[in-house]
Amino acid sequence: MLKRYLLAPGPTPVPPEVLLKMAMPIIHHRAPDFIPVFEEVREGLKWLYQTENDVLILCSTGTGGMVGAVNNFFSPGEKVLTVNGGKFGERWTEICKTYGLDVREIEVEWGYAVKPEQVEDALKKEPDIKGVFVQASETSTGVYHDVKTLGEIVGRYEDTLFIVDAISGLVAHDLKTDEWGIDVMVGGSQKGVMLPPGLAFVSVSEKAWKKAEKSNCPKFYFDFLKERKKQKDNQTNFTSAVSLIIGLNEAIKLLKKEGLKNVFARHEKLAHATRESMKAIGLELFAKESPSNSVTAIVAPEGIDGQKIYKTLREKYGVTAAGGQGKAKGKIFRIAHLGYADVFDVIVAVTAVEMALKNLGYPLQLGKAVAVAEEILMGEG
Ligand SMILES: *Cc1c(COP(=O)(O)O)cnc(C)c1O
Repeated sequence: MLKRYLLAPGPTPVPPEVLLKMAMPIIHHRAPDFIPVFEEVREGLKWLYQTENDVLILCSTGTGGMVGAVNNFFSPGEKVLTVNGGKFGERWTEICKTYGLDVREIEVEWGYAVKPEQVEDALKKEPDIKGVFVQASETSTGVYHDVKTLGEIVGRYEDTLFIVDAISGLVAHDLKTDEWGIDVMVGGSQKGVMLPPGLAFVSVSEKAWKKAEKSNCPKFYFDFLKERKKQKDNQTNFTSAVSLIIGLNEAIKLLKKEGLKNVFARHEKLAHATRESMKAIGLELFAKESPSNSVTAIVAPEGIDGQKIYKTLREKYGVTAAGGQGKAKGKIFRIAHLGYADVFDVIVAVTAVEMALKNLGYPLQLGKAVAVAEEILMGEG
């Protein structure tokens, strides 16, 4: 028998309470019994997003939300700025180009966070940039970008929208949508929100809604103005993903019970324990600064293929973590501590890494990393 542990940065494990709710017979999305559920979910998402703005619920993966964040607020030829510090930053650039936007890109070396001055300088140089796109947590490198400071900078420009991909950042990081001036923030169900894949969430500020009215990018499925109208009546434009939305309602209840502050503190502690334990056995973190609390990316030791570590973890020990993406493939492996994650998920991950590395010939003293993790996880706060 090989017991399975899902410790990837999406999909992530789903709590049994949520699974049970989703196992209930399907209800009809236009029937009256769905309306109060949708209403509660809409309110719950506002709480999670720390916003008074609308938060749309879309039936798609996170990338669908990203696409909608581009083609609903901009028009072909409009100038935008993307921060590309990894696989998902690259995706912002690709989507913007797909819709014919005039893209300026800040290329950030993988493993580093964008320097706010870079965005500041780009906007000073070209104040006609109409949107700034960034990740909160860049999942491919395990780096957190300073959303708060970036929000302050973009906020100085009346006609510029600040758009954040928080697909893996939501729940793991304290992201204050309204306070930090985030106009559009995208989330996804299968990361911190503790659900299966299939939903995207997008918050939209009043400033962004005004701009949406002038956008002439082609759109049909992701038509946010139409969705907004429908969702105000607790309906979706097309068939609602009823089971996922019912699951989302339960997941938000669990997060509410814990309290936002505690949710963020838990992620910070799990991330801290993971990072320190890896360093204790001589491993280097891929994030050279500003590490994400969602996922830890670890550099594979000299002479050992990162994909081999990831495969050994999965095939020999039943632990599904993640390898590297794009140009980091083979160079790193990644462990998530995101969503339905607690102390013993970190213990499992760290122990399995020790065993896998020893297996692959890396010299280490078993138990050293896990002891460091235990010390941190036993600490207060
Ligand atoms: C997972 C992820 C995405 C893509 O989400 P899909 O659900 O696979 O479409 C985008 N951005 C970030 C930061 C992610 O972690």
